[in-house]
Amino acid sequence: MMRTVITGGAGFIGSHLCERFLADGHEVICVDNLITGTLSNLEHLRSNDRFSFIRHDISHPLELDGRVDIVLHFASPASPVDYLRHPIPTLKVGSLGTHNTLGLAKAKNARYLLASTSEVYGDPEIHPQREDYWGHVNPIGVRGVYDEAKRFAEAMTMAYHRFHGVSTRIIRIFNTYGPRMRLDDGRVLPNFMGQALRGEPLTVYGDGSQTRSFGHVDDLVEGIVRLLETDFHEPVNLGNPDEVTILDFAREILALSGSKSQIEFRPLPQDDPRVRKPDISRARQLLGWEPRIARTEGLRRTLEYFQNKVHMEG
Ligand code: UDP
Repeated sequence: MMRTVITGGAGFIGSHLCERFLADGHEVICVDNLITGTLSNLEHLRSNDRFSFIRHDISHPLELDGRVDIVLHFASPASPVDYLRHPIPTLKVGSLGTHNTLGLAKAKNARYLLASTSEVYGDPEIHPQREDYWGHVNPIGVRGVYDEAKRFAEAMTMAYHRFHGVSTRIIRIFNTYGPRMRLDDGRVLPNFMGQALRGEPLTVYGDGSQTRSFGHVDDLVEGIVRLLETDFHEPVNLGNPDEVTILDFAREILALSGSKSQIEFRPLPQDDPRVRKPDISRARQLLGWEPRIARTEGLRRTLEYFQNKVHMEG
C-alpha cells in the first residue's frame, strides 16, 4: 500500500486529493494548520482507517515514523484575499514549507510533487502561457508574497532534484474551481456565485475586460495522478484553456443562476494580471491529458454546492 503525505490536505484542492488517493487504495496522511483549510472538508474521509490528520504548520519541520512513498506539497493560502491576509505565512509555507517537505521526501526516498501556480507568470507578456516563459512578476507588489514564494519553491524543488536526486515534479495550477471552495475566500467564482444567490450585486473589478481560464478540480486531480506516474521534472501547466473575460463570466453566472442581481464595477486590485490562459501542449503530450469538464457543466455543479452553503448561511 502506498503511503502518501498531502500538505494542505484540508484545503479545497488538498481535500480532493485526499479523497482521490484514498479511493486509489493509498494510506493518506493529511497535514494542515487549518489557517485557510477546514476539517469540514475532510469529514467524509475521517472514518476511513487509511486516513489520518496531523494539525501542523509545515513551515516547521515534520518528522514522520515509517515509510513515505509520495509527498504532495499543497499547503498555502492561495486566493489573493487570503494571501493578503496572511502574507508572512504565505512566504514561509512556500519557502520553508517547501524546504521541509523536500527534506521529508529526501529522507524517505519518496516521490515529490510541488503545487506551483500560474502566478509564477505574473502579469504575462506572452499569451497563452507556456512553461518556458519566465514570467513578469512584481516582487514587492501585494501579490509578490505568493508569486515569489512559489517561484522560490520551484527553484528549491529543482535544486533538490539536481543536487540530491529527489524524484520531483512541479505543476503550475491555473484558476481552479469546484465544490469545497470557501464561499468567503474572495476569489471571483465564490464571490459571484454567493452574490448571485443572495441577490446582491456582482462585484466586477476594473472594467471586467481582464481574462481568466477556469478549470474544474476533477480535471486537475486527474492530471496530478498522471504526472506522478511519469519521471518528468520540469513544470507542467494544468488548467483549462477556455478563456473568458471577467465581465462575461459574471454574465454567465447570472444566466446560470437565474439571478436578478446587477453588475457593479469596483476598482481593479494592484498588479491584477490582464490575461491568463494555459498552453497545455506539454500536459497533452506527456500525460495524454485533456480537461473533460466544460465550464457550463462545471459551473452548474459548483452552483449546486454553493446553493447549499448560502442556504445554510441564511
Ligand atoms: N474579481 C472580480 N470580482 C471579484 C473577485 C475577483 O472582478 O469579486 C476579478 C479579479 O480582479 C481578477 C479575476 O476576477 O481579475 C480573478 O480573481 P481571483 O481573485 O479569483 O484570482 P486571480 O486569478 O486574480 O488569482
